Amino acid sequence: STNIIAIVGRPNVGKSTLFNRLIGQRKAIMDNVSGVTRDRSYGHGDWTGKYFTVIDTGGYVHGSDDIFEAEINRQVELAMNEADVILFMVDVDAGLTGLDEEFANVLRRTDKPVYVVANKADTNARMHQMGEFYSLGVGIDIFPISSQSGSGTGELLDEVVKHF
Ligand code: GDP
Ligand code: MG
Repeated sequence: STNIIAIVGRPNVGKSTLFNRLIGQRKAIMDNVSGVTRDRSYGHGDWTGKYFTVIDTGGYVHGSDDIFEAEINRQVELAMNEADVILFMVDVDAGLTGLDEEFANVLRRTDKPVYVVANKADTNARMHQMGEFYSLGVGIDIFPISSQSGSGTGELLDEVVKHF
């Protein structure tokens, strides 16, 4: 199997921070699909002896809301086509936003395993704020993590690699 993890979510939730943590010292491979824009990054990592490829679907995000809707579809379609497991990242510091709901609406179309990753849960207080994201109604489960410190990422990966 290919063991591909894709990270999706609105800008600034911490997708690239988690991506960099998952690939560790390994180098990201940029895929310049448009020739100008950094469209996505691929990297390799491993957890408890299982190797995986991780895709950061972030890349360049345009300003207008109209184009942003296309950006959501682009990210999520890329993930739905290529990934074995999708990580839908949200930000417990910022709380639930309309864009998170838009991502959730598109993600409802996939039958691939989706986990909601409640990032920036740096403290216990923030960790408890993940509860509001259950109302998104997507994902097998929600994992609170801090991409910055790495806390919670082990529990998340233990679950993700069960699909590999
Ligand atoms: P992306 O746009 O989703 O790829 O988000 P980035 O990875 O670029 O992160 C956006 C901002 O959030 C940066 O300033 C990060 O340093 C910050 N950030 C990422 N993860 C965490 C975290 O776990 N806790 C906190 N407090 N900040 C974080
Ligand atoms: Mg990014």
